Amino acid sequence: MCGIVGYIGHREAYPILIKGLQRLEYRGYDSAGIALISNGNLNVYKAKGKVSDLVHFAQQKDIAGTVGIAHTRWATHGEPNTVNAHPHYSQSEELAIIHNGIIENYAVLKQGLIANGYAFQSETDTEVLIQLIEFVKKANHVDLTTAVQLALNQVVGAYAIAVLEKSQPDTIVAARKGSPLVVGLGEDEFFIASDATPIIEYTNQVIYVGEEEIVTLHRGKDIQIKTISNVVKTPEIKKLELTLNQLEKGGYPHFMIKEIFQQPQTLADSMRGRVNIEENNVVLSGFIDNKEKFLNAGRIIITACGTSWHAGLIGMYVIEEFARIPVEVEYSSEFRYRKPVIFPNDIVIAISQSGETADTLAAVELAKSHGAFIFGICNVVGSSIPRNSDSGAYTHVGPEIGVASTKAFTAQVTVLTMLALMIGREKGTLPEEKYLSIVKELGRIPDKMKILLSQNERIAQFAKTFTYAQNFIYLGR
Ligand code: GLU
Repeated sequence: MCGIVGYIGHREAYPILIKGLQRLEYRGYDSAGIALISNGNLNVYKAKGKVSDLVHFAQQKDIAGTVGIAHTRWATHGEPNTVNAHPHYSQSEELAIIHNGIIENYAVLKQGLIANGYAFQSETDTEVLIQLIEFVKKANHVDLTTAVQLALNQVVGAYAIAVLEKSQPDTIVAARKGSPLVVGLGEDEFFIASDATPIIEYTNQVIYVGEEEIVTLHRGKDIQIKTISNVVKTPEIKKLELTLNQLEKGGYPHFMIKEIFQQPQTLADSMRGRVNIEENNVVLSGFIDNKEKFLNAGRIIITACGTSWHAGLIGMYVIEEFARIPVEVEYSSEFRYRKPVIFPNDIVIAISQSGETADTLAAVELAKSHGAFIFGICNVVGSSIPRNSDSGAYTHVGPEIGVASTKAFTAQVTVLTMLALMIGREKGTLPEEKYLSIVKELGRIPDKMKILLSQNERIAQFAKTFTYAQNFIYLGR
Protein backbone atom coordinates (compact mmCIF):
# COMPACT_ATOMS: atom_id res chain seq x y z
CA MET A 1 0.00 0.00 0.00
CA CYS A 2 0.96 3.62 0.21
CA GLY A 3 3.56 5.32 2.34
CA ILE A 4 3.67 7.26 5.57
CA VAL A 5 6.58 9.31 6.89
CA GLY A 6 6.83 11.58 9.93
CA TYR A 7 9.53 13.49 11.74
CA ILE A 8 9.82 15.41 15.01
CA GLY A 9 13.14 16.63 16.36
CA HIS A 10 15.74 19.36 16.03
CA ARG A 11 16.29 19.33 12.25
CA GLU A 12 14.22 20.81 9.46
CA ALA A 13 11.52 18.23 8.73
CA TYR A 14 10.82 19.01 5.06
CA PRO A 15 13.98 17.54 3.47
CA ILE A 16 13.76 14.43 5.68
CA LEU A 17 10.10 13.90 4.78
CA ILE A 18 10.61 14.40 1.05
CA LYS A 19 13.56 12.02 1.02
CA GLY A 20 11.47 9.57 3.03
CA LEU A 21 8.64 9.74 0.50
CA GLN A 22 11.14 9.09 -2.28
CA ARG A 23 12.42 6.06 -0.39
CA LEU A 24 8.84 4.78 -0.29
CA GLU A 25 8.18 5.37 -3.99
CA TYR A 26 8.85 1.72 -4.78
CA ARG A 27 5.56 0.88 -3.04
CA GLY A 28 3.61 2.66 -5.78
CA TYR A 29 1.29 5.66 -5.32
CA ASP A 30 -0.84 8.16 -7.21
CA SER A 31 -0.42 11.40 -5.24
CA ALA A 32 1.63 12.86 -2.41
CA GLY A 33 1.32 15.43 0.35
CA ILE A 34 2.96 16.92 3.39
CA ALA A 35 1.94 18.81 6.57
CA LEU A 36 4.32 20.94 8.63
CA ILE A 37 3.90 23.11 11.69
CA SER A 38 5.76 26.39 11.32
CA ASN A 39 5.33 29.54 13.44
CA GLY A 40 1.95 28.46 14.74
CA ASN A 41 0.64 27.51 11.27
CA LEU A 42 -0.33 24.04 10.18
CA ASN A 43 0.59 24.06 6.49
CA VAL A 44 -0.65 21.34 4.14
CA TYR A 45 0.66 20.92 0.58
CA LYS A 46 -0.55 18.23 -1.81
CA ALA A 47 -0.12 17.24 -5.44
CA LYS A 48 -1.43 14.58 -7.79
CA GLY A 49 1.34 12.58 -9.43
CA LYS A 50 4.89 12.14 -8.27
CA VAL A 51 6.76 13.30 -5.18
CA SER A 52 8.66 15.60 -7.57
CA ASP A 53 5.32 17.28 -8.41
CA LEU A 54 4.82 17.93 -4.70
CA VAL A 55 8.33 19.39 -4.43
CA HIS A 56 7.58 21.60 -7.41
CA PHE A 57 4.30 22.75 -5.87
CA ALA A 58 5.90 23.52 -2.48
CA GLN A 59 8.78 25.50 -4.02
CA GLN A 60 7.49 28.97 -3.16
CA LYS A 61 5.72 27.90 0.03
CA ASP A 62 6.68 28.02 3.71
CA ILE A 63 8.41 24.69 4.20
CA ALA A 64 9.94 25.50 7.57
CA GLY A 65 9.27 23.43 10.68
CA THR A 66 10.88 20.72 12.76
CA VAL A 67 7.75 18.59 12.90
CA GLY A 68 5.83 17.16 9.98
CA ILE A 69 4.03 14.24 8.38
CA ALA A 70 4.00 13.17 4.73
CA HIS A 71 2.14 10.65 2.60
CA THR A 72 2.06 8.89 -0.73
CA ARG A 73 -1.48 7.79 -1.49
CA TRP A 74 -2.82 4.71 -3.21
CA ALA A 75 -6.44 5.67 -3.65
CA THR A 76 -9.14 3.37 -2.32
CA HIS A 77 -11.95 5.91 -1.73
CA GLY A 78 -12.24 8.70 -4.26
CA GLU A 79 -10.21 9.15 -7.40
CA PRO A 80 -6.56 10.16 -7.30
CA ASN A 81 -6.59 13.96 -7.32
CA THR A 82 -5.20 16.80 -5.23
CA VAL A 83 -8.29 17.21 -3.04
CA ASN A 84 -8.37 13.51 -2.14
CA ALA A 85 -4.60 13.40 -1.52
CA HIS A 86 -3.46 13.37 2.10
CA PRO A 87 -2.90 15.07 4.55
CA HIS A 88 -6.50 15.96 5.32
CA TYR A 89 -7.45 18.80 7.62
CA SER A 90 -10.21 18.58 10.19
CA GLN A 91 -13.08 21.05 9.86
CA SER A 92 -11.38 23.75 11.98
CA GLU A 93 -8.03 23.07 10.25
CA GLU A 94 -6.58 22.58 13.73
CA LEU A 95 -5.71 18.95 12.96
CA ALA A 96 -4.22 17.13 9.99
CA ILE A 97 -4.01 13.41 9.30
CA ILE A 98 -2.26 10.98 6.98
CA HIS A 99 -3.68 7.49 6.68
CA ASN A 100 -2.81 4.24 5.04
CA GLY A 101 -5.63 1.69 4.83
CA ILE A 102 -9.41 1.59 4.63
CA ILE A 103 -12.04 2.80 7.12
CA GLU A 104 -14.81 0.30 6.45
CA ASN A 105 -17.59 2.03 8.35
CA TYR A 106 -16.76 5.49 7.02
CA ALA A 107 -20.22 5.98 5.47
CA VAL A 108 -22.06 5.57 8.77
CA LEU A 109 -19.54 7.74 10.62
CA LYS A 110 -19.81 10.39 7.92
CA GLN A 111 -23.59 10.55 8.22
CA GLY A 112 -23.29 11.09 11.98
CA LEU A 113 -20.73 13.85 11.49
CA ILE A 114 -22.82 15.58 8.82
CA ALA A 115 -25.74 15.55 11.26
CA ASN A 116 -23.42 17.34 13.68
CA GLY A 117 -22.59 20.08 11.21
CA TYR A 118 -19.41 18.70 9.68
CA ALA A 119 -18.78 19.31 5.98
CA PHE A 120 -16.41 17.35 3.78
CA GLN A 121 -13.99 18.49 1.10
CA SER A 122 -12.87 15.10 -0.22
CA GLU A 123 -14.40 11.74 -1.09
CA THR A 124 -12.01 9.86 1.19
CA ASP A 125 -12.65 7.66 4.17
CA THR A 126 -9.63 9.33 5.77
CA GLU A 127 -11.23 12.75 6.05
CA VAL A 128 -14.06 11.11 8.00
CA LEU A 129 -11.55 9.86 10.54
CA ILE A 130 -9.92 13.25 11.15
CA GLN A 131 -13.33 14.91 11.50
CA LEU A 132 -14.32 12.21 13.97
CA ILE A 133 -11.13 12.81 15.97
CA GLU A 134 -11.90 16.53 16.08
CA PHE A 135 -15.53 15.93 17.01
CA VAL A 136 -14.58 13.56 19.83
CA LYS A 137 -11.82 15.91 21.03
CA LYS A 138 -14.14 18.90 21.29
CA ALA A 139 -17.05 16.96 22.77
CA ASN A 140 -14.93 15.40 25.51
CA HIS A 141 -12.36 18.18 26.06
CA VAL A 142 -9.48 15.72 25.83
CA ASP A 143 -5.93 15.83 24.45
CA LEU A 144 -5.03 14.55 21.00
CA THR A 145 -3.90 11.08 22.10
CA THR A 146 -7.15 10.47 23.97
CA ALA A 147 -9.20 11.84 21.09
CA VAL A 148 -7.44 9.47 18.67
CA GLN A 149 -8.05 6.61 21.07
CA LEU A 150 -11.76 7.38 21.47
CA ALA A 151 -12.21 7.84 17.74
CA LEU A 152 -10.41 4.61 16.84
CA ASN A 153 -12.73 2.74 19.15
CA GLN A 154 -15.52 3.65 16.74
CA VAL A 155 -13.60 2.64 13.64
CA VAL A 156 -13.90 -0.64 11.78
CA GLY A 157 -11.13 -1.19 9.26
CA ALA A 158 -7.41 -1.01 8.72
CA TYR A 159 -5.20 1.94 9.38
CA ALA A 160 -1.77 3.36 9.98
CA ILE A 161 -2.26 7.02 10.84
CA ALA A 162 -0.28 10.01 11.99
CA VAL A 163 -1.94 13.17 13.29
CA LEU A 164 -0.67 16.71 13.92
CA GLU A 165 -2.32 19.43 15.99
CA LYS A 166 -1.61 23.05 15.12
CA SER A 167 -1.35 24.19 18.75
CA GLN A 168 0.90 21.26 19.72
CA PRO A 169 4.09 21.61 17.64
CA ASP A 170 5.92 19.24 19.99
CA THR A 171 3.72 16.21 19.37
CA ILE A 172 2.87 13.61 16.74
CA VAL A 173 0.27 10.98 17.54
CA ALA A 174 0.31 7.81 15.44
CA ALA A 175 -1.55 4.50 15.53
CA ARG A 176 -2.02 1.34 13.57
CA LYS A 177 -4.22 -1.66 12.95
CA GLY A 178 -3.74 -3.92 9.96
CA SER A 179 -1.38 -1.52 8.16
CA PRO A 180 2.29 -1.38 9.16
CA LEU A 181 4.00 1.41 11.13
CA VAL A 182 7.57 1.73 12.42
CA VAL A 183 9.04 4.34 14.78
CA GLY A 184 12.75 5.20 14.52
CA LEU A 185 14.50 6.49 17.63
CA GLY A 186 17.26 9.06 17.08
CA GLU A 187 19.00 11.48 19.46
CA ASP A 188 16.14 13.65 20.71
CA GLU A 189 14.24 12.96 17.52
CA PHE A 190 11.67 10.49 16.25
CA PHE A 191 10.92 9.19 12.78
CA ILE A 192 7.83 7.30 11.73
CA ALA A 193 7.23 5.41 8.51
CA SER A 194 5.29 2.56 6.91
CA ASP A 195 8.52 0.58 6.80
CA ALA A 196 12.08 1.26 7.87
CA THR A 197 13.38 2.41 4.44
CA PRO A 198 13.00 6.16 5.17
CA ILE A 199 14.48 5.69 8.67
CA ILE A 200 17.53 3.51 8.17
CA GLU A 201 19.92 6.29 7.20
CA TYR A 202 19.27 8.12 10.48
CA THR A 203 19.01 5.32 13.02
CA ASN A 204 18.89 1.54 13.35
CA GLN A 205 16.91 1.64 16.61
CA VAL A 206 13.27 0.98 15.80
CA ILE A 207 9.99 0.09 17.44
CA TYR A 208 7.42 -1.82 15.39
CA VAL A 209 4.08 -0.42 16.50
CA GLY A 210 1.75 -3.29 17.47
CA GLU A 211 -1.85 -3.93 16.44
CA GLU A 212 -4.27 -1.34 17.86
CA GLU A 213 -1.46 0.59 19.52
CA ILE A 214 -1.27 4.37 19.74
CA VAL A 215 2.12 6.06 20.06
CA THR A 216 2.65 9.61 21.29
CA LEU A 217 5.91 11.19 20.21
CA HIS A 218 6.74 14.26 22.33
CA ARG A 219 9.79 16.25 21.38
CA GLY A 220 12.49 15.65 23.99
CA LYS A 221 10.47 13.03 25.90
CA ASP A 222 10.26 9.25 25.87
CA ILE A 223 7.86 7.57 23.50
CA GLN A 224 4.51 6.63 25.04
CA ILE A 225 2.53 3.65 23.83
CA LYS A 226 -0.92 2.47 24.78
CA THR A 227 -3.56 0.34 23.12
CA ILE A 228 -6.89 1.68 21.96
CA SER A 229 -8.40 -0.14 24.96
CA ASN A 230 -6.07 1.89 27.23
CA VAL A 231 -3.44 -0.69 28.18
CA VAL A 232 -0.03 0.98 28.61
CA LYS A 233 2.76 -0.82 26.75
CA THR A 234 6.51 -0.89 27.31
CA PRO A 235 8.34 -0.01 24.10
CA GLU A 236 10.34 -2.89 22.65
CA ILE A 237 13.34 -1.49 20.82
CA LYS A 238 14.73 -3.59 17.97
CA LYS A 239 17.97 -3.21 16.05
CA LEU A 240 17.62 -3.09 12.26
CA GLU A 241 19.92 -5.49 10.49
CA LEU A 242 18.56 -5.24 6.94
CA THR A 243 20.03 -3.15 4.12
CA LEU A 244 17.92 -0.58 2.30
CA ASN A 245 17.56 -2.82 -0.72
CA GLN A 246 16.38 -5.74 1.42
CA LEU A 247 13.97 -3.47 3.27
CA GLU A 248 12.25 -2.30 0.10
CA LYS A 249 11.42 -5.87 -0.69
CA GLY A 250 10.33 -6.61 2.88
CA GLY A 251 13.32 -8.91 3.32
CA TYR A 252 12.32 -10.97 0.26
CA PRO A 253 14.78 -11.44 -2.62
CA HIS A 254 12.42 -9.87 -5.18
CA PHE A 255 9.04 -8.18 -5.45
CA MET A 256 7.20 -11.15 -6.91
CA ILE A 257 7.93 -13.40 -3.96
CA LYS A 258 7.04 -10.53 -1.63
CA GLU A 259 3.68 -10.16 -3.37
CA ILE A 260 3.06 -13.90 -3.19
CA PHE A 261 3.59 -13.73 0.56
CA GLN A 262 1.40 -10.65 0.89
CA GLN A 263 -1.63 -12.66 -0.20
CA PRO A 264 -3.12 -13.53 3.20
CA GLN A 265 -3.27 -9.77 3.79
CA THR A 266 -4.41 -8.75 0.28
CA LEU A 267 -7.14 -11.40 0.25
CA ALA A 268 -8.39 -10.08 3.58
CA ASP A 269 -8.23 -6.55 2.13
CA SER A 270 -10.25 -7.48 -0.94
CA MET A 271 -12.95 -8.98 1.29
CA ARG A 272 -12.81 -6.22 3.92
CA GLY A 273 -16.26 -4.76 4.48
CA ARG A 274 -17.71 -7.20 1.96
CA VAL A 275 -17.57 -10.65 3.54
CA ASN A 276 -19.01 -10.73 7.01
CA ILE A 277 -18.42 -14.12 8.55
CA GLU A 278 -20.31 -13.39 11.78
CA GLU A 279 -23.43 -12.49 9.86
CA ASN A 280 -22.64 -15.02 7.13
CA ASN A 281 -23.14 -12.47 4.44
CA VAL A 282 -21.53 -11.00 1.31
CA VAL A 283 -22.13 -7.39 0.36
CA LEU A 284 -20.88 -5.94 -2.91
CA SER A 285 -22.35 -2.50 -3.41
CA GLY A 286 -21.63 -2.56 -7.16
CA PHE A 287 -24.09 -5.45 -7.37
CA ILE A 288 -26.67 -4.14 -4.91
CA ASP A 289 -27.00 -0.82 -6.75
CA ASN A 290 -27.64 -2.64 -10.05
CA LYS A 291 -29.43 -5.76 -8.90
CA GLU A 292 -32.09 -5.63 -11.60
CA LYS A 293 -29.49 -5.55 -14.37
CA PHE A 294 -27.93 -8.75 -13.06
CA LEU A 295 -31.25 -10.48 -12.46
CA ASN A 296 -32.41 -9.71 -16.00
CA ALA A 297 -29.11 -10.44 -17.72
CA GLY A 298 -29.40 -12.82 -20.66
CA ARG A 299 -25.69 -13.48 -20.73
CA ILE A 300 -22.44 -12.36 -19.13
CA ILE A 301 -19.36 -11.72 -21.25
CA ILE A 302 -16.09 -11.54 -19.38
CA THR A 303 -13.38 -9.71 -21.28
CA ALA A 304 -9.76 -9.40 -20.15
CA CYS A 305 -6.14 -10.05 -21.10
CA GLY A 306 -3.39 -12.25 -19.68
CA THR A 307 -3.75 -13.23 -16.05
CA SER A 308 -7.03 -11.34 -15.71
CA TRP A 309 -8.41 -13.52 -18.52
CA HIS A 310 -7.45 -16.60 -16.50
CA ALA A 311 -9.29 -15.15 -13.50
CA GLY A 312 -12.24 -14.72 -15.90
CA LEU A 313 -12.19 -18.45 -16.73
CA ILE A 314 -12.65 -19.28 -13.05
CA GLY A 315 -15.30 -16.55 -12.89
CA MET A 316 -17.20 -18.33 -15.66
CA TYR A 317 -17.31 -21.56 -13.64
CA VAL A 318 -18.55 -19.93 -10.45
CA ILE A 319 -21.08 -17.62 -12.10
CA GLU A 320 -22.57 -20.38 -14.24
CA GLU A 321 -22.72 -22.75 -11.29
CA PHE A 322 -24.15 -20.34 -8.73
CA ALA A 323 -26.17 -17.93 -10.87
CA ARG A 324 -27.15 -20.10 -13.87
CA ILE A 325 -26.41 -17.31 -16.34
CA PRO A 326 -24.46 -18.30 -19.47
CA VAL A 327 -20.97 -16.82 -19.40
CA GLU A 328 -18.49 -16.32 -22.22
CA VAL A 329 -14.89 -15.37 -21.61
CA GLU A 330 -13.01 -13.67 -24.38
CA TYR A 331 -9.62 -12.11 -24.87
CA SER A 332 -10.16 -8.37 -25.16
CA SER A 333 -7.87 -8.13 -28.18
CA GLU A 334 -10.08 -10.63 -30.07
CA PHE A 335 -13.33 -9.19 -28.85
CA ARG A 336 -12.54 -5.63 -29.88
CA TYR A 337 -11.35 -6.48 -33.40
CA ARG A 338 -14.10 -8.86 -34.47
CA LYS A 339 -17.77 -8.03 -34.74
CA PRO A 340 -19.14 -9.61 -31.56
CA VAL A 341 -22.87 -9.92 -31.06
CA ILE A 342 -23.76 -7.83 -28.03
CA PHE A 343 -27.28 -7.36 -26.68
CA PRO A 344 -28.49 -4.57 -24.41
CA ASN A 345 -29.35 -7.15 -21.75
CA ASP A 346 -25.77 -8.49 -21.75
CA ILE A 347 -23.49 -7.72 -18.87
CA VAL A 348 -19.85 -7.25 -19.77
CA ILE A 349 -17.38 -7.80 -16.94
CA ALA A 350 -14.02 -6.16 -17.71
CA ILE A 351 -11.09 -7.33 -15.59
CA SER A 352 -7.78 -5.49 -15.42
CA GLN A 353 -5.32 -4.92 -12.58
CA SER A 354 -4.21 -1.50 -13.78
CA GLY A 355 -7.58 -0.48 -15.18
CA GLU A 356 -5.66 0.83 -18.18
CA THR A 357 -5.26 -2.28 -20.35
CA ALA A 358 -5.78 -0.75 -23.79
CA ASP A 359 -7.56 -3.72 -25.42
CA THR A 360 -9.89 -4.19 -22.47
CA LEU A 361 -10.72 -0.50 -22.41
CA ALA A 362 -11.50 -0.64 -26.14
CA ALA A 363 -13.67 -3.74 -25.54
CA VAL A 364 -15.55 -1.83 -22.84
CA GLU A 365 -16.21 1.06 -25.18
CA LEU A 366 -17.40 -1.28 -27.92
CA ALA A 367 -19.76 -3.13 -25.55
CA LYS A 368 -21.06 0.16 -24.22
CA SER A 369 -21.86 1.40 -27.69
CA HIS A 370 -24.12 -1.67 -28.06
CA GLY A 371 -25.92 -0.77 -24.84
CA ALA A 372 -24.47 -3.51 -22.62
CA PHE A 373 -24.05 -2.93 -18.90
CA ILE A 374 -20.36 -2.77 -17.89
CA PHE A 375 -19.02 -4.06 -14.59
CA GLY A 376 -15.30 -3.36 -14.00
CA ILE A 377 -13.05 -5.40 -11.73
CA CYS A 378 -9.85 -3.39 -11.34
CA ASN A 379 -7.23 -2.59 -8.77
CA VAL A 380 -6.27 1.00 -9.50
CA VAL A 381 -8.92 3.38 -8.20
CA GLY A 382 -9.97 6.08 -10.65
CA SER A 383 -8.27 4.39 -13.63
CA SER A 384 -9.81 4.42 -17.11
CA ILE A 385 -11.80 1.16 -17.03
CA PRO A 386 -13.63 1.91 -13.75
CA ARG A 387 -14.31 5.42 -15.03
CA ASN A 388 -15.84 3.98 -18.18
CA SER A 389 -17.84 1.27 -16.41
CA ASP A 390 -21.41 1.47 -15.16
CA SER A 391 -20.48 -0.25 -11.94
CA GLY A 392 -17.81 -2.49 -10.51
CA ALA A 393 -15.72 -3.62 -7.59
CA TYR A 394 -12.11 -2.77 -6.79
CA THR A 395 -9.78 -5.56 -5.75
CA HIS A 396 -7.91 -3.42 -3.17
CA VAL A 397 -4.59 -5.27 -3.17
CA GLY A 398 -2.31 -2.23 -3.32
CA PRO A 399 0.28 -1.66 -6.04
CA GLU A 400 1.57 -4.73 -7.84
CA ILE A 401 5.21 -4.34 -8.85
CA GLY A 402 6.10 -7.92 -9.85
CA VAL A 403 5.45 -8.51 -13.55
CA ALA A 404 3.81 -11.91 -13.12
CA SER A 405 0.51 -11.28 -11.39
CA THR A 406 -0.06 -13.04 -8.08
CA LYS A 407 -1.99 -11.08 -5.47
CA ALA A 408 -4.06 -9.25 -8.12
CA PHE A 409 -5.12 -12.57 -9.63
CA THR A 410 -6.26 -14.15 -6.35
CA ALA A 411 -8.21 -11.00 -5.50
CA GLN A 412 -9.89 -10.96 -8.94
CA VAL A 413 -11.04 -14.54 -8.40
CA THR A 414 -12.25 -13.58 -4.93
CA VAL A 415 -14.29 -10.64 -6.27
CA LEU A 416 -15.79 -12.82 -9.02
CA THR A 417 -16.76 -15.40 -6.40
CA MET A 418 -18.38 -12.74 -4.23
CA LEU A 419 -20.30 -11.49 -7.26
CA ALA A 420 -21.44 -14.99 -8.23
CA LEU A 421 -22.60 -15.60 -4.65
CA MET A 422 -24.64 -12.42 -4.64
CA ILE A 423 -26.32 -13.06 -8.00
CA GLY A 424 -26.98 -16.70 -7.14
CA ARG A 425 -28.58 -15.89 -3.82
CA GLU A 426 -30.68 -13.08 -5.23
CA LYS A 427 -31.87 -15.21 -8.17
CA GLY A 428 -32.57 -18.15 -5.91
CA THR A 429 -30.35 -20.42 -8.03
CA LEU A 430 -27.92 -21.02 -5.17
CA PRO A 431 -29.37 -22.97 -2.23
CA GLU A 432 -29.06 -20.98 1.01
CA GLU A 433 -27.10 -23.77 2.68
CA LYS A 434 -24.49 -23.76 -0.05
CA TYR A 435 -24.32 -19.96 -0.01
CA LEU A 436 -23.66 -19.97 3.73
CA SER A 437 -20.99 -22.63 3.53
CA ILE A 438 -19.15 -20.81 0.74
CA VAL A 439 -19.27 -17.48 2.58
CA LYS A 440 -17.74 -19.25 5.56
CA GLU A 441 -15.02 -20.76 3.37
CA LEU A 442 -14.25 -17.37 1.83
CA GLY A 443 -13.66 -15.97 5.29
CA ARG A 444 -11.17 -18.73 5.98
CA ILE A 445 -9.17 -18.20 2.80
CA PRO A 446 -6.55 -15.78 4.22
CA ASP A 447 -5.67 -18.32 6.93
CA LYS A 448 -5.62 -21.17 4.44
CA MET A 449 -3.32 -19.11 2.26
CA LYS A 450 -0.98 -18.76 5.25
CA ILE A 451 -0.90 -22.54 5.66
CA LEU A 452 -0.19 -22.96 1.96
CA LEU A 453 2.62 -20.42 2.04
CA SER A 454 4.16 -22.13 5.04
CA GLN A 455 4.86 -24.99 2.57
CA ASN A 456 7.25 -22.64 0.79
CA GLU A 457 10.32 -24.85 1.19
CA ARG A 458 8.52 -27.92 -0.13
CA ILE A 459 7.09 -26.00 -3.08
CA ALA A 460 10.55 -24.73 -3.97
CA GLN A 461 11.84 -28.29 -3.76
CA PHE A 462 9.09 -29.56 -6.10
CA ALA A 463 9.81 -26.72 -8.51
CA LYS A 464 13.44 -27.75 -8.62
CA THR A 465 12.56 -31.39 -9.18
CA PHE A 466 10.36 -30.53 -12.14
CA THR A 467 12.51 -27.80 -13.67
CA TYR A 468 13.04 -29.74 -16.89
CA ALA A 469 9.58 -31.28 -17.20
CA GLN A 470 8.10 -30.67 -20.65
CA ASN A 471 4.47 -30.93 -19.63
CA PHE A 472 2.49 -30.66 -16.45
CA ILE A 473 -1.04 -31.74 -15.58
CA TYR A 474 -2.73 -29.98 -12.69
CA LEU A 475 -5.65 -31.77 -11.05
CA GLY A 476 -7.79 -30.11 -8.49
CA ARG A 477 -11.22 -29.10 -7.33
N1 GLU B 1 -8.34 4.98 2.04
C1 GLU B 1 -7.51 6.14 1.93
C2 GLU B 1 -7.79 6.93 0.66
O1 GLU B 1 -8.36 6.44 -0.28
C3 GLU B 1 -6.03 5.81 2.07
C4 GLU B 1 -5.48 5.08 0.90
C5 GLU B 1 -4.02 4.71 1.10
O2 GLU B 1 -3.74 3.76 1.85
O3 GLU B 1 -3.19 5.40 0.48
O4 GLU B 1 -7.44 8.07 0.61
